[in-house]
Amino acid sequence: MESPVENGYRIFADLHTHTTYSHGKGSVEDNVRAAKFRGLKCVAITDHGIRHPLVGVSRKKFPAMRKDVQAAAEKFGIDVLLGIEANIYGMSGEIDLSDGDISMLDIVLAGFHASARPQKVSDIFMFQSGLVAGRLGKSSKEQIARNTKAYINCIKRFPIDILTHPGFWLQLDTYELGKACADYGTYVEISSRHRVPDEEGLEGFMKSGAMFVINSDAHLVQNVGRWEYALNLAAAAGLDEARIANAGNKPLVLRSKN
Ligand SMILES: [Zn+2]
Ligand SMILES: [Zn+2]
Repeated sequence: MESPVENGYRIFADLHTHTTYSHGKGSVEDNVRAAKFRGLKCVAITDHGIRHPLVGVSRKKFPAMRKDVQAAAEKFGIDVLLGIEANIYGMSGEIDLSDGDISMLDIVLAGFHASARPQKVSDIFMFQSGLVAGRLGKSSKEQIARNTKAYINCIKRFPIDILTHPGFWLQLDTYELGKACADYGTYVEISSRHRVPDEEGLEGFMKSGAMFVINSDAHLVQNVGRWEYALNLAAAAGLDEARIANAGNKPLVLRSKN
């Protein structure tokens, strides 16, 4: 089956979707049905890590999720990956997944969520300081350098396949971060849900040599496989399909599985 062409890109997988296991509205089966309907060959179920308040998924739920993933893959005949969107929660780049957890997953995503409990009090004053400034795009150079360092630490320490919504809440040096992503084989997400990176952020990532993924981060079933913002941004910047890991005619290569 050929992937649908939108804005000149053939995206074959949505690698970031949420279900009722965290605070998505649909079941695993609902998301997989929607992905199949949109002509995708693959969809990932990536609910929030445990530090996400109230809705984070504990590893006790992984077996039930795995069962749902297998059942939906058989029913709809497309690839379904089980993942988690981990929280980066300290300057050291710590995430809320153990090595054991990672070995149970098919794909590992990580991102910063302002609501996730920080590792140490000092992390509030380092990594999490200036959240409001970050939201407004008015972080100081020092804050941007610290945020970027925390992300790079994370990429170096853990086999992160995808860095989710970079630039949401925190401002980053996208050129420096992109270089680390390129070196370690972590993909930079262009997020339609959070509309990041912006034009300038994407420019830095593109110069760095990083590879990208285009994802919906759908929390609603009807948003699975929808990525208008990301495609428009990529097309306007002239991003080559060859640099998008979930587009074109290539196999999906994931760092956590290599
Ligand atoms: Zn997120
Ligand atoms: Zn998400």
